[in-house]
Parts: sequence; C-alpha cells; structure tokens
Amino acid sequence: MDWKDDAEQAAFRQQVRTVIEERLPERYRRGEGEWERDRRSEDASARDAAKAWGDALAEQGWFAPHWPKEYGGANLSPMEQFIFNQEMASHGAPGVGGQGVKQLGPTLIVHGTPEQKAEHLPKILSGEVDWRQGYSEPGAGSDLASLQTRAIRDGDDFVINGQKIWTSLAHVADWLYVLTRTDPDAPKHRGISFLLVDKATPGISIRPLVDMSYRHHFNEVFFEDVRVPARNLVGDENRGWYVGMTLLDFERSNITGAVSSRRTLDGLREYLKTEDGQSKSAVGRTEPLRGEIADRYIETDVMFNFSFRIISMQNRGLIPNYEASTSKLFASELNQRVARTGTRVFGLYSNILDRADARAPLQSDFTRTYLSSVSATIAAGTSEIQRNIIATRGLGLPRG
Ligand SMILES: Cc1cc2nc3c(=O)[nH]c(=O)nc-3n(C[C@H](O)[C@H](O)[C@H](O)COP(=O)(O)OP(=O)(O)OC[C@H]3O[C@@H](n4cnc5c(N)ncnc54)[C@H](O)[C@@H]3O)c2cc1C
Repeated sequence: MDWKDDAEQAAFRQQVRTVIEERLPERYRRGEGEWERDRRSEDASARDAAKAWGDALAEQGWFAPHWPKEYGGANLSPMEQFIFNQEMASHGAPGVGGQGVKQLGPTLIVHGTPEQKAEHLPKILSGEVDWRQGYSEPGAGSDLASLQTRAIRDGDDFVINGQKIWTSLAHVADWLYVLTRTDPDAPKHRGISFLLVDKATPGISIRPLVDMSYRHHFNEVFFEDVRVPARNLVGDENRGWYVGMTLLDFERSNITGAVSSRRTLDGLREYLKTEDGQSKSAVGRTEPLRGEIADRYIETDVMFNFSFRIISMQNRGLIPNYEASTSKLFASELNQRVARTGTRVFGLYSNILDRADARAPLQSDFTRTYLSSVSATIAAGTSEIQRNIIATRGLGLPRG
C-alpha cells in the first residue's frame, strides 16, 4: 500500500507548512500557552500571540477548517483535514478550535434554525463565546440516555432542574449545551431535548472537581429553576438524543493521536541521545527498556493506519462505526502506554512533578501525562464500551 500524497494533497500540505513556518508565534513553538485560553487571557503578550495566530488561520478559513465556506469555514475534505491536523500536530502548533468549533458549530449547521445559526456561529468563529458540554450526570455516563435533568415547558421558556457532572471547563465557559429530559414517560431515548443555555442565567451554580494531577478541569453544574427561552431548543422537542449523537460523532472523529504520540516519542529519542538524558535514564544499560520504546514506535505506526482507514472511509462518504471505536480505543490506550514507557525510562526521576525542577527530565512531561492520561480511556466513551461496540457491531458476537 502506498500512502504517499497525490499532487493536490502534496500542494495543500505544503501550503499548511508554509503558513505554520511563517506565522506560528514563538510562544506556541516553545509549547507554551493554550491558544484557546490565550485569546481571552489577561496577559497582553498571550493575547497578542493568540491574535496573530488567529489572523493567520482566519485568512485561510482555517479557524473552522471543516465548516462550509458560507459559514466562514474552508470546506476542507476529510483527507485535507487529516493533512491539516497532521501538519499542525507534527509542528506542535496548537489544535484548532474548541468544542464550539469542533462540535457545537457543525451540529448547529445540521440541526439549528436560521436564527440560531445567525446568533451563535459568528461568535464561535470569533472566539467571543466559549461553549462546553453538559451531558453526563452522576447516574448517566456510559448509559447517557438515562439522564434525569428535567426541563419543563412553561410559556415561552423551559425551566431546568437537575445536575451535570464532569463538565470540562464549565468554569471558563460562557454557554453550555445541555441534554435534558422533557418527557419522563417516553422510552428513554425519546424524551430528551437539546438546549442552549447561557451560563449567566440565574439558578446555575458550578462546583470544581480537582483531579489527581491537581488540575481543575472538571466541574459539577447544578440547575435550580433555570429559565431558558424555548427558541434555544435545537431540533425538535423530545428528539434531542439524535442532535446530541450528531455532536458526539463530531467529537469522536479526532485523528491526531498517532501524530502526537510519534512526536512525543521523537522528543524522547532525541533527549536520550544527550548527556543529560543519558545521566537520568538506564536505557543505555537496559535492553528491555530499549525494546519497550521500539514497541511504542511500532504501535504509533499501527495507530497511523487506523486513522488513515477512518479518513479514507469519510472521504468516500462512509460513516465509520466500529472502526471509530477501534481507533479511539487504540489511541487512548497508546497514549497511556507511551506515558508509562516514558516514566519507566526515567525511573525515580519520574517522581518529580514540578516542571521547573532542574532535575526533571523533559520538564516532567511524561510524569504529568502519566497522570492526566488516566482519563483518556474514560472520556468520550470508555474502553469497555468501545470493546462492546467492536465485539457486537464489528464482529457480530451475540449480546449478553
Ligand atoms: C477527560 C474527561 C472529560 C470529560 N468531559 C465531559 C464533558 O465536558 N461533559 C460531559 O457531559 N461529560 C464529560 N465527561 C464524562 C464522560 O463522558 C463519562 O465519564 C463517561 O461517559 C463514562 O461515564 P461514567 O464516568 O458515568 O462511568 P460509568 O458509565 O458509570 O462507568 C463505570 C465503569 O463501568 C463500565 N461500564 C459501564 N457500562 C458498561 C457496559 N455496558 N459494559 C461494560 N462495562 C461498562 C465503564 O467502562 C467504566 O469502567 C468527561 C470525562 C473525562 C474522563
């Protein structure tokens, strides 16, 4: 099999490289800052870097590369998006777009009213409004359709009561998109509605959940008599499950895993050739550790082929099903294996979490990824759920 670009793809790849080489601000080349957050930072130099990079992307329509041109995107084909993401990841450029660009925007383009599109899409593109996802609840994660947060129609409003959990970055969000139960008597998938909720609405409170790597990423979100205008309903009342699932399809088609794992391994390989790297690692004396690194390289090649299969299907207009689960499962477990290998390579030095500590190998990147990657096999569908999908839909095995 020949994976080489054709002439058109090679030209597009070169175009992406040129923009990155000429316009990517130093801050991001050094791996500092998060573009999404920098756009709203209090630090003027962070804001300037974010603006400079945002302008470079906007000139190409790459702020929302997969959106149709009429909504301000570049209408890139799945293969072009793959090339685009590959080049961004391999140069360490910050990922494009947050949940607004990647998930809610495309969902509104499919299911939103003209008024909803006119109100929300431009603000997603300009970065003015940050969107986050209110799906999971204490009793509804893998079995999301069991959700209980209730929305009752009252005149021109819905009134929401209930609780969401694991809501990533709800504390920095401006708006939330929320799945609610509007018909408790209907079969569970058929009584759900998808609502857009301004976080400033009275009755919303947010409580932080700090994770094992000491990050405040997750939150609990409580709704107490929160009034949401009925015009914020996306799709039909009680048909929100299907709107919500469209959005998850956009969430799961992430294809940069192979490139970023390979980049991490390349960084490790280069560091191990330096004096500092050799002084902090037993790789030079330990054959099994060298073998482990070789295994991770092989696995990133396997991962690349999974990504390529998904993208080839999408390019032919097919919708990946168990194939997306295979890719998600392998990528998230690979992410954890790479982190584990890195921490084993540095032995006791891996106990240093502080990136500023001079003794920390590679600014303790592997240690921090070791902690943060635990969640990779839970987010966006756990590994058990992915294996169930592969076993039943992919292999046709009987359900229990
Ligand atoms: C990094 C991260 C970010 C997240 N961000 C958000 C967000 O922004 N918004 C949001 O709404 N949610 C978010 N979540 C929540 C996420 O969607 C849920 O954690 C996930 O769906 C699993 O649900 P749960 O935690 O309730 O676990 P459960 O569903 O209770 O699962 C517990 C265990 O049981 C297993 N299990 C469950 N059902 C089955 C089954 N049928 N067969 C076999 N095993 C099973 C699971 O695999 C798991 O090991 C995030 C989670 C993480 C880790």
